[in-house]
Amino acid sequence: MSTQYQRGLAFTEEEIFGRGSPGRSGVDFSDGGFEDIADPAKMLPAGYVRGGLEGFPELSEPEVVRHYTRLSQWNFGIDSNMYPLGSCTMKHNPRVNEAVCRLNGFTDLHPYQPDEDCQGTLKLIHDLGRWLCEITGLHSATLQPAAGAHGEFAGLLMVRSALQKRGDARSKVLLPDSSHGTNPASAALCGYGSVTLKSGANGKIDLAELDRLMDEQVAALMVTNPNTLGIFESDIVKIAKIVHDRGGFLYCDGANLSALMGKGRFGDMGVDVAHLNLHKTFSTPHGGGGPGAGPVCVTEELTPFLPTPMVVKDGDKYKLDSGRPHSVGRVHGFNGNVGVLVRAAAYILSMGPEGLREATEAAVLNANYIKARLKEHYHTPIEGNSLHECVLNDKYQNEHDVTTMDIAKGLIDRGFHPPTIYFPLIVRGALMIEPTETEPKETLDDFCDAMIDIAEKAKADPESLKQAPVNTIRRRLDEAHAARNPELRCTLCS
Ligand SMILES: *Cc1c(COP(=O)(O)O)cnc(C)c1O
Repeated sequence: MSTQYQRGLAFTEEEIFGRGSPGRSGVDFSDGGFEDIADPAKMLPAGYVRGGLEGFPELSEPEVVRHYTRLSQWNFGIDSNMYPLGSCTMKHNPRVNEAVCRLNGFTDLHPYQPDEDCQGTLKLIHDLGRWLCEITGLHSATLQPAAGAHGEFAGLLMVRSALQKRGDARSKVLLPDSSHGTNPASAALCGYGSVTLKSGANGKIDLAELDRLMDEQVAALMVTNPNTLGIFESDIVKIAKIVHDRGGFLYCDGANLSALMGKGRFGDMGVDVAHLNLHKTFSTPHGGGGPGAGPVCVTEELTPFLPTPMVVKDGDKYKLDSGRPHSVGRVHGFNGNVGVLVRAAAYILSMGPEGLREATEAAVLNANYIKARLKEHYHTPIEGNSLHECVLNDKYQNEHDVTTMDIAKGLIDRGFHPPTIYFPLIVRGALMIEPTETEPKETLDDFCDAMIDIAEKAKADPESLKQAPVNTIRRRLDEAHAARNPELRCTLCS
């Protein structure tokens, strides 16, 4: 059992306000000639000096250090334990890539420095674009977009421009009902309505339904492959043909590339435009709201519409090219989030083609291992093997009045971050598990043991799961109350 990970000292921590006492401080300015600095009234015009601040905490330095250190220990991250959030690809990001992206040659560049001074960074951007095209089987790439959603927006802008140039402006985008919420949002931002494609019984796109809805007003079909259920859209070539025959473009949401690298290429499947999430597949830590990157790869047909400036190779030099008349223009300041691009390039170079293929194989093996170990204990709405993630639900546990929410809270008691729950929407009570390739078998076993223990508890003592989590500092929160009555002001300001 995994509880070994969470035994020991767990500190509770109260708000810092109301602690300490007047006059206590971390730094003593009382002598040594610093009196002027210590007193704002001597340094600033009267209008800028606050008379007093009621309730402002006055504490010593060690008290402050402990306060924030304890709070930081409340964080759960991929560095603490497995983080199986389906669709998010919370894998370990090798530290060497962090070291590479912090090299001064990258970090000390000024964005306005002339191209001649930035040859290394420009070469990296150029080469990374080529490598991503090789991995996806597409023709050219932009690395500007800051995330997957931003890549979708940029990709659909290119589709829109291409259609307008043809004199065939269209009005809507088709989306499977399992698609990620960013897909319809991007369609709307580009001025398209979205039409939902109901999935077939096997969780895949239903060709007859596609045939019925794909008309001459559809600019693009946005597919996710493998889709959000972790299933490969095996009819993708037929899907592409239906879409192309009626003048549309095939957009592929490539957020699940961790299941395909080195195995299948979007371009070979008939995809015209695809975004990738470098912060999922290619080694950038995410989840805390830090920067990401959502490069978009396109066919030769869509290449004239790529955002500018493009990094191009001219002889043995690299330069920024803005002279592209059909470009959709800039979608990000300068060259995008370059630190993320450096990590991705370092990751690809250190893995090599064989390493990327092995990562995919391990990601798929891990997900299927979990599915195989859990399928006696949890209902698996989609039969057969999946790719890099698997979807279970709470059907068996519902018989004992235990729900997906209770299972998720039970996992917290057992030392694991819960998987994605209640998504995709087409599966009732979904538990969507993506272990990623970086978990060893022992950790997968610990996770499965915890899940099986929960399934046993659901039968023997369902009430105990309703109480979960009990091993945490805070117990189950009233999420409905928090959502309806959010308290967003800090105690000090209100
Ligand atoms: C994560 C994800 C997105 C959105 O990507 P962001 O980088 O979070 O904007 C889109 N589609 C799928 C399938 C995803 O998993």
